[in-house]
Amino acid sequence: MNFNPPKGTDDIFPPASRAWRRALSIWERLAERYGYDLVIGPIFESTEVFARGVGESTEVVQKQMYTFEDKGGRSLTLRPEGTASVVRAYLGSGSQGVAKLAYAGPMFRYERPQAGRRRQFFQTGVEYVATASPDADAEVVELGYRFLEELGLDQVTVALNSIGDSVCRPAYLEVLRAYLDGQRDVLCDESLRNLETNPLRVLDCKVCAPILSDAPNAVDFLCDDCTAHFDSVRARLDSVGIPYRLEPRLVRGLDYYTRTAFEYIATGFDAAQNAVGGGGRYDGLAEALGGPAVPGVGLAMGIDRILLAAGDDGTDVVPLDLFIIVAAPERREVAARFLSELRLAGVRADMAPEQRSVKAQFRAADRRQAAGVAIVGVEWEDDRVVVRNLSKSTQDVIKREEVAAWAKGNR
Ligand code: AMP
Repeated sequence: MNFNPPKGTDDIFPPASRAWRRALSIWERLAERYGYDLVIGPIFESTEVFARGVGESTEVVQKQMYTFEDKGGRSLTLRPEGTASVVRAYLGSGSQGVAKLAYAGPMFRYERPQAGRRRQFFQTGVEYVATASPDADAEVVELGYRFLEELGLDQVTVALNSIGDSVCRPAYLEVLRAYLDGQRDVLCDESLRNLETNPLRVLDCKVCAPILSDAPNAVDFLCDDCTAHFDSVRARLDSVGIPYRLEPRLVRGLDYYTRTAFEYIATGFDAAQNAVGGGGRYDGLAEALGGPAVPGVGLAMGIDRILLAAGDDGTDVVPLDLFIIVAAPERREVAARFLSELRLAGVRADMAPEQRSVKAQFRAADRRQAAGVAIVGVEWEDDRVVVRNLSKSTQDVIKREEVAAWAKGNR
């Protein structure tokens, strides 16, 4: 058999996975700091969740879902995104009132694979449920921006738009449809089909969008409530110092979005896949799932794409603080106890599984990319060990109780 992962999927293996571990732990801390609890849901759902929640007319539902029948004859789908499942779980939990929920996990879409466009990819996201407040929209936009900032991804633009709600969108769609009707001879086949079912998607079409530069924009048709909401979101973003660019052409491919839509564009990254995250308000989603009217706003960050854009391949991460070298077999037992104490003290420490020559253990320390080594040798009789910083090639003899602090100091 061949050992490659299925087409469009990746083995995220060291050293690349070190960048992932760093990114995911930054994400966890940040989401917690902003008050989001964790939700862990199933990786597959009833197909209906996405058919209703994402929208029958979307590309995701029409072309990209991994749908299968289980042995009980149920139609199930590997989740192509997180929002519909999280809102389904919120409704199912019987919760009422505001919930702030964070998730992280793999998503699945049958796409034409390329760099940054995978069939299995990983999203982290939040959903701020049961509030229509513009402060929630601004907080979510800020959270995603801070995440990219903490990951060191500079040159990020937040593209921001409002696509209206059920009050003003119908009038806009009518005008848009009339405009697109007049452009039938230049539209691609897919846009001609979308014109009937989901005209907003025509503006999202890579082929047609550039030739539709004079198409009407949703933002020019907002009702008073949507205008006031959009103004508040922008005022709040200004006050917390999040830069953004108004992007009247930004529409989301998913049906349930209302009002705020946003995307993070990694402008320093010259590639087609430079949208590293995005989100928006989805006041129509809970009802589309058959529940009561529950407003909400959320975002999803694509970790694969973020790390690609940041050029973070994990090679700069030093995975171990300390490698213990055991000078002689009779010291293995104390060395193992010492290793255990160091780990309890929070040092990322390890030693070779079998006794080898000191030289071979030094080679192992190098291979494991440890920042330093501690040699448990004759000095142990005086409660001391020889420590060596491997990158600086400096060596010292220190007390064993000082080793934990020394090792952490090498980070
Ligand atoms: P979406 O759920 O389509 O709004 O996408 C949100 C983010 O998920 C995007 O900005 C990407 O970073 C990421 N993403 C979406 N689809 C893919 C994919 N096929 N491969 C890798 N990342 C993706």
